[in-house]
Amino acid sequence: MPYELSQGVDLLNETETFLQTLLETIPDILFVFDEECRYLCVLSSEHNINQMKASHFVGNRIHDLWPKELADRFYHIIQETLRTDQPQSLEYERDTAVGLRWFEGRTQPLPQSLYGRKAVVFLARDITERKLAEIARTKSESQLNSLYELGIVGFAFSLTGKQWIRVNSYLCNLLEFSEAELLGMTWAEFTHLDDLKNNIFEYEQMLANANNGYTLEKRYISKSGKEIPVRVVVRCARHQDGTIDYVTTMVEDISERRKNEAEIRQLAFYDSLTGLPNRRHFNNRLQQALSASALHKKIGALFFIDLDNFKNLNDTLGHEKGDGLLTLVASRLSGCLSKGDMVARQGGDEFVVILEEIGNNTREAMAQCQRIGERLLDVLCQPYFIDGFEHNTTASIGITLFDGHPEKSDELLKRADIAMYQAKAAGRNAFCFFDKEMQNKVSHRAALSADLLVGIREEQFRLFYQPQVEHSGRVIGVEALIRWQHPDRGMVSPAEFIPMAEESGAILTLGHWVLKTACQQLAIWATKPEYAHLTIAVNVSARQFYQSDFVEKVLLVLEETGADPRLLKLELTESMLLQDVEDIITKMTLLKRIGVGFSLDDFGTGYSSLSYLKRLPLDQLKIDQSFVRDLLTDANDDAIARTIVALAESMGLAVIAEGVETQEQRDCLAGHGCYTYQGYLFGRPVPADELKLSCS
Ligand code: C2E
Ligand code: CA
Ligand code: CA
Repeated sequence: MPYELSQGVDLLNETETFLQTLLETIPDILFVFDEECRYLCVLSSEHNINQMKASHFVGNRIHDLWPKELADRFYHIIQETLRTDQPQSLEYERDTAVGLRWFEGRTQPLPQSLYGRKAVVFLARDITERKLAEIARTKSESQLNSLYELGIVGFAFSLTGKQWIRVNSYLCNLLEFSEAELLGMTWAEFTHLDDLKNNIFEYEQMLANANNGYTLEKRYISKSGKEIPVRVVVRCARHQDGTIDYVTTMVEDISERRKNEAEIRQLAFYDSLTGLPNRRHFNNRLQQALSASALHKKIGALFFIDLDNFKNLNDTLGHEKGDGLLTLVASRLSGCLSKGDMVARQGGDEFVVILEEIGNNTREAMAQCQRIGERLLDVLCQPYFIDGFEHNTTASIGITLFDGHPEKSDELLKRADIAMYQAKAAGRNAFCFFDKEMQNKVSHRAALSADLLVGIREEQFRLFYQPQVEHSGRVIGVEALIRWQHPDRGMVSPAEFIPMAEESGAILTLGHWVLKTACQQLAIWATKPEYAHLTIAVNVSARQFYQSDFVEKVLLVLEETGADPRLLKLELTESMLLQDVEDIITKMTLLKRIGVGFSLDDFGTGYSSLSYLKRLPLDQLKIDQSFVRDLLTDANDDAIARTIVALAESMGLAVIAEGVETQEQRDCLAGHGCYTYQGYLFGRPVPADELKLSCS
């Protein structure tokens, strides 16, 4: 029997048997309640999917078995039936063993004679199907529905928002579940765990009657475990009393959009060549790191890394190889750092690294930076293999610490940059910590840079001449070297202000002044027989030489001053000859045609290949003073000097050694076959009228 009788309750067996027979033909469930809303009897058909076990109910009160809200509603309708002695009805939904269902409840007062006291019969009918049809009908009128039906977006119906009881094919395809599988599942089952908390909050807000739905972006997990970013729009319809009638969920697959967003993010925040974070990304991150350091009172560090002589390599070997090198450098840098660190490409061959929380005090932090700096230098100087060729390079690194004081990120970057230049100045392949003194030097440079323009205007520059002698000691020419007689600072070295002038562009005015002054000097000497043979070597800076009208400018100066072009020699440096070879050759050839000579300054310190040099119409190589300095003590420098002499000879070029300070150096050079010299041994740079013609 599908029903049981409770002990102690006087029941009419026959009546119930009769009712049971009746029930087999209708889908309803029958309950009988007493005045206190206690279950007296429960009957349901064998076919009823909601079949009830009577023992579970009989003897219990409504409030013992149902959630308060539902129990209140039952209680209310039973009391109303008793009070009015009239049938009543209500609709309600509840969780059942087969999911959420809708019911219609109808009551009827029972004659007191039946149970010996007042009682109410309650017939519950499962109306889920009808309800769904109703919902579907109302919805089919809505515009959105056509989208759902077309399957352009995912669509699901649920009652009170839990299990889905209707889904469209789009959603099935998206989640890889069949319709049958999806029905009865709850959205929480395929929402990504990390998104669930957020979603439950929104959902509960809706249940709490705070709103009629929500929109959010989250991830679903498909049957096969695929993560699918989706946008869900959840809307609920409410009964008049505010309880939820039904919930619709619209699901939009936003994978494509996310992919586009990711692409845009990649383009906006990552460097396309190396895949490293770019300058913009880095700036954001540095700002964050600074705030975090201020908050947690932890020390962090910023590294500024610049490859040594990258430009030369790039120019001589081509940009493709240069790019290859940068990519390798990027991956080596990333490989060296721990997870929380960031390495970014600042542009060109410059990289930056942010280290966070590297110590509680400066000493600790510096020790840590030292270790990392050493490791980076070591890793970066290992040979690189690009397209089967081996390349070697080194890097210079500037390091600055940040320690919780509010700092501006660009100020910090400037410091690391300054320290990096210091590392370069210290001979490259080195790292250097920023300190205050560096800062002062930089400020000094900035002030000087401003003074430069005033200096040009107020004619504070002088041209000095340093003798160049032949074997016998006879002066055959001079090198023109600029001097700045600064009103407050005294004599400022060109080594200090020439690079600044290069940077600011003032070198163009300055260089032109030097050329003109030197040519005027040639013209003056031309009138004095004992000086008439002297050549003047003029240093030409890269920027000056690259001007498109450089040749015209020189020709014009020669014409204006009347100087003999054959006595003018232009000194170029190796590094400036690496850019546009054809243009360089054209310019040199044009000037050579009227007799202007060319000397290659600082030879040996650059990277030029021999085959490349051979193409340039040079007249002379100038052995750099750094080799001359240690000629007698450093076998390597001695070998270099000897090789340069041999090289010049084989290429049919003259050779001169600069920076000759001692007789021993001179003799050594002579031994190698170099017979022309310049240096303190023979004379310092002096004003033209102090120049002596014999220096033996
Ligand atoms: P540089 O062209 O290599 O000039 C040689 C430098 O070595 C000069 O320094 C010279 O005074 C110095 N020198 C000469 N003999 C000796 C020696 O025996 N021992 C030592 N230790 N040094 C010696 P200075 O005049 O200070 O010039 C430095 C640099 O400034 C020059 O190097 C050149 O690159 C640049 N410069 C000077 N004048 C001009 C100019 O008119 N135009 C351009 N563009 N650059 C200039
Ligand atoms: Ca020079
Ligand atoms: Ca030189």
